[in-house]
Amino acid sequence: MSIIHFPPTEFLISAAALKQLPADQDYEVAFAGRSNAGKSSALNAITNNKKLAKTSKTPGRTQLINFFTLDNHHRLVDLPGYGYAKVAQEIKARWQETLAQYLTSRQSLRGLILIMDIRHPFKETDQQFLTWAAGCGLPVHVLLSKADKLSRNIANKTLSQAQQTLKPYPLTTIQLFSATHGLGLEKARRQVLTWLKLAS
Ligand code: GDP
Repeated sequence: MSIIHFPPTEFLISAAALKQLPADQDYEVAFAGRSNAGKSSALNAITNNKKLAKTSKTPGRTQLINFFTLDNHHRLVDLPGYGYAKVAQEIKARWQETLAQYLTSRQSLRGLILIMDIRHPFKETDQQFLTWAAGCGLPVHVLLSKADKLSRNIANKTLSQAQQTLKPYPLTTIQLFSATHGLGLEKARRQVLTWLKLAS
């Protein structure tokens, strides 16, 4: 049972290009991760809204940045899953450019939640994302997702190794997470709400 209340969150807008983003004011937290890492499941679990983030598994489709509102001053952002093997090089390149511009220019962006499948962490695109975020001085909180797929012992070992890997990124924190089992849910919620200045 959750003790942290997450405010009701609703879909706001899908943006296909940077010029379509909502006004850059107040507080925003963005979710990123490779396709299939468990990003939609994490968003739905954190907001306690099973239908919030819908996944499109169709490679090559228009990549949308989806915005959700908690209220007029607080937003969550679902960045398109990156690293989908079947997406054309051209789409990948365009998406990387959009992502880089979003990260570097968005004033209201207070923090990034990076979802990595605990069984396949630190793929090249994840490393690139961490490097970009560090370059922009943006804090990142990593969810090692699907932690229920490993034994508690192996999951904890993986977490320790990941903490070592993240040593060069001082603004980055990390935790175990399972959307299906609720593992780490409170901690993840607290991090999002803290960045949004809705908790301390
Ligand atoms: P996305 O592409 O990153 O949005 O990933 P999804 O949230 O759609 O999840 C991809 C797959 O992983 C789906 O089959 C989910 O059911 C599964 N999945 C996501 N989170 C978890 C988790 O915490 N535990 C387990 N066992 N499976 C998960």
